[in-house]
Amino acid sequence: MRVIDNMESQVRGYVRSFPVVFERSKGAKLFDREGKEYIDFFAGAGTLNYGHNNDVSKEAMIEYLQNDGVLHGLDMATSAKIAFLESFADNILAPRNMDYKIQLTGPTGTNAVESALKLARLIKGRSNVVAFTNAFHGMTAGSVSITGNTFYRDEAHISRSNVAFMPYDGFFGPDVNTIDYFRRYLEDPSSGLDQPAAVFVEAIQGEGGVNIASAKWLQELEALCHEYDMFLIVDDIQAGNGRSGDFFSFEEARISPDMVTVSKSIGGGLPMALLMIRPDLDQWKPGEHTGTFRGNNLAFVAARAMIDHYWTNNELSNAVKYKEKVLRAELEKIAEKHGKDFPMRVRGRGLFYGLEIDEPGFAGEVSSIAFERGLVIELSGAKDQVVKFLPPLIVDEETLKEGIQIIADAIDEIAAQKKERLKGSF
Ligand code: PLP
Repeated sequence: MRVIDNMESQVRGYVRSFPVVFERSKGAKLFDREGKEYIDFFAGAGTLNYGHNNDVSKEAMIEYLQNDGVLHGLDMATSAKIAFLESFADNILAPRNMDYKIQLTGPTGTNAVESALKLARLIKGRSNVVAFTNAFHGMTAGSVSITGNTFYRDEAHISRSNVAFMPYDGFFGPDVNTIDYFRRYLEDPSSGLDQPAAVFVEAIQGEGGVNIASAKWLQELEALCHEYDMFLIVDDIQAGNGRSGDFFSFEEARISPDMVTVSKSIGGGLPMALLMIRPDLDQWKPGEHTGTFRGNNLAFVAARAMIDHYWTNNELSNAVKYKEKVLRAELEKIAEKHGKDFPMRVRGRGLFYGLEIDEPGFAGEVSSIAFERGLVIELSGAKDQVVKFLPPLIVDEETLKEGIQIIADAIDEIAAQKKERLKGSF
């Protein structure tokens, strides 16, 4: 660890919450240098939906490497790219009656978001865009400008202009329809809201605290976008790739976004990102938005292997929906047990759940105690008040329950200590 402390920038983050040296990983588990085992309920922030070192993608990649397949090809045509695009078209788009062109962007999520921002502004000839409260879209200049959290938004290093924030579904509580609020801004020409080129939305906000937009809200948002000539752009980087139980998080709402950003698990654990573009909006001039690493061919190989293996039938989707029931039921039990003393809320969809704990610092203590006991789990939300459950989708039921038990025990202990302390202070 000394080398990390001495050499790696202060900016490092997760290593502080999980301060061990990891050496191996398999399925839903990580192993540190001392051989200690950890259940992984973080899954690379949604990058390891198919688990660590998935055998199917691993074998496909080994074979590709053994055959000296092209690793780097800029955006030139390669057999690996063609095989991926064909599989994505046949197994993901066609069964959902979706028609999109695919832009392969630089390899991280933020690259796909930047492409969407630029393309939307280019086509509409307007610079203003709308994002939502608690949104998270990435860390490069454009993406961070549409990210809500103040921690990342220092005016000294990003331009916060040309972005307006509107309240996400539920921001004012369950009784306020925030689409009505947004509509008022659009219909009043002196509201101060410049006509937006596009609206960026996550159907499930991951970093923002596992907030879920209802199907009705998303449908109303889509209608509003049509009415006011704004592109609807869904950022499915964290919630996509089966996380919600469907391949795309917005399928349940039956909306048709103009653009969709996809990354994280699409590359089977390797860096890869893409932008899905409604065909008539593919108005780029050749080479107008470029980048050296738009052809991570090893990721194409892994991506294709994962799609062919998991998305040619409903098995994974059904398994996610089944495991969701197990997860939800257990979390609700925890919330019910402690809710009187420490208000907690459970929300989520698929294997994307949050346990929100109002008591300041409580969620953080849960994550650190869980880590000591062999569970990697992260926090989210504006005040780090939400314990975020993001296990690999392939986690077996026993491991899932084992992980939840670690959380339940940690919460029991923290609650008991806090109550004891409170008693002592009277
Ligand atoms: N969009 C969403 C919804 C995300 O959750 C993330 C990352 O967590 C990003 C964009 C940025 O992706 P990346 O970190 O790969 O740039």
